[in-house]
Amino acid sequence: MSKNKKLKILIAAAEAAPIAKVGGLGDVISALPKALVKLNLDARVIIPFYGAIDKNKYKIKLIKQNIKINGTAINLWQTNLPDSTVPVYLIEHNFFQKKEIYSTMLADGPADIKKFTFFSRMILPSLEAINFQPDIIHLNDWHTAPVAQLLKIKYKTKSFFKQIKTLYTIHNLANQGITKTENYMATGILNSNLINTVSPTYAKEILTKEYGAGLEKFLTKRKKQLFGILNGIDTDFFNPQTDKLIKLNYSAEALEKKVANKAQLQRQLGLPQNKNIALVGLISRLVWQKGLDLINDKLLELNCQFVFLGTGQKKYEEQLLKLAKKFLQQFSAQIKFDEKLAHLIYAGSDIFLMPSYFEPCGLGQMIAMRYGTAPLVRATGGLADTVNDKVGFSFKKYSAPILYKTLDKTLTIFYNQPQIWRQLQINGMKQNFSWDKSAKEYLKLYIQLKNSAD
Ligand code: ADP
Repeated sequence: MSKNKKLKILIAAAEAAPIAKVGGLGDVISALPKALVKLNLDARVIIPFYGAIDKNKYKIKLIKQNIKINGTAINLWQTNLPDSTVPVYLIEHNFFQKKEIYSTMLADGPADIKKFTFFSRMILPSLEAINFQPDIIHLNDWHTAPVAQLLKIKYKTKSFFKQIKTLYTIHNLANQGITKTENYMATGILNSNLINTVSPTYAKEILTKEYGAGLEKFLTKRKKQLFGILNGIDTDFFNPQTDKLIKLNYSAEALEKKVANKAQLQRQLGLPQNKNIALVGLISRLVWQKGLDLINDKLLELNCQFVFLGTGQKKYEEQLLKLAKKFLQQFSAQIKFDEKLAHLIYAGSDIFLMPSYFEPCGLGQMIAMRYGTAPLVRATGGLADTVNDKVGFSFKKYSAPILYKTLDKTLTIFYNQPQIWRQLQINGMKQNFSWDKSAKEYLKLYIQLKNSAD
């Protein structure tokens, strides 16, 4: 690659925060291109123009009208990701007129399949219409997976598309986009030049039956082209030195101030106010994946307080509320989505619990470390890649007694070896979980793609 020619990347996805966001995918599609631009790449994004998107708020302008493709016509609109120079293209068509981004919770109902099939079909002709010829098209999850196949089968003979390579990122292997004849997730896996998922360990785990969600054979076939790149976190939003949502700001150099947040948290939750007792936090969607089956009465024999924040499956919400009722002085269950309380828990806890059965990347453990809160995790997926014994604690076997034992050991260090504890906290706070780091990893894959013969 010549030094003075910018690498051109088109990132195609169903979401891009804050313009169109439902979950973590939207955050990635906003943070990654901004970090790529800092590395001097020409990174652009393409999403559908959903009815819910505010045209005025995001200053979205019509750039190309009535592009005729296979007997239908679309309009192309453009804006930038807020506070950046990253162009975002939006495809306008009746298909996307409805307000919501996904029509079902699982985001892969029949209406979604139709919508994203259409979106995928419009992407390549749109590029030609605006004469943007990327080196790489970076596809994300099943919604844009058909692009890889279209490029390979239909468009490769056209000179405009000949050199374009594809990277397919798997954010959520569980939602696959299944039609009568096709599995879009599998299409992406089989037809892209390179594939990655959101942590190195998860990239290996999904080759097994246990974690492969039925696609392990396809993934194994592409093993040599499958990589793992950790997501970053928003290190400005999650910063104990400047966070407006916590009681008192602090840094690794002034860790003693962290305790003011613990006091506030205990006060707010109605737990006994005692700065010396260990406080264990958990913030999560309350779903099977997150390891909530390992939480039971026995854990409450340990000398610590707990706060769990989350919403999700009824069964787990009720399980936690029951514990809170039984152990009033020790266990607080907060069944809601609450960003402010989440920040206070990250800042005010001593230990952050993530006993997940599987975890593609996991953000909670990284956020906790940034706040000097030692993570205690099950060593799986991104948790295994981010938590070692210099920064926290982990266990391997998915078992309640093993979790109990690990927390017991953790508490022994907390109460008896304050210097070692402080060093753990400082080590965690010094980790670099920024998107700049992740973007460099993506750049490596892009360069590998660009330089590959096919
Ligand atoms: P997942 O993407 O599987 O839900 P992650 O650990 O990758 O899990 O990201 C979850 C993010 O959502 C974290 O930033 C966590 O703090 C936040 N979060 C989850 N539940 C809640 C809640 N009830 N209130 C506030 N924030 C929450």
